[in-house]
Amino acid sequence: MNGDLCRPGCCPVCQARFRGASRCSRCGADLSVLMSLASEAFVLRRAARESLRRGEYRAAEASVQAAQQLHATPEGDLLTWICLACSGNAIAEQA
Ligand SMILES: [Zn+2]
Repeated sequence: MNGDLCRPGCCPVCQARFRGASRCSRCGADLSVLMSLASEAFVLRRAARESLRRGEYRAAEASVQAAQQLHATPEGDLLTWICLACSGNAIAEQA
């Protein structure tokens, strides 16, 4: 899901906020695919945070970038920057 097409957590048809249902409460659009992508992105961001805790910075970076491809969020942007900073630190430490 591209963050430019719709705001995260909102119906792409009418912009109503997700309310945890597979159909938009305002316009009735089927949101099941979007919810599935958002859920998968959540799992990938969680994996990225776990990789960061283990010091596996490249794996963390790959997970968060995959998550952002599926469902971009501001929190995911921040996590991406943290992963990139840690990856840079890891390279500097190895040199
Ligand atoms: Zn809607």
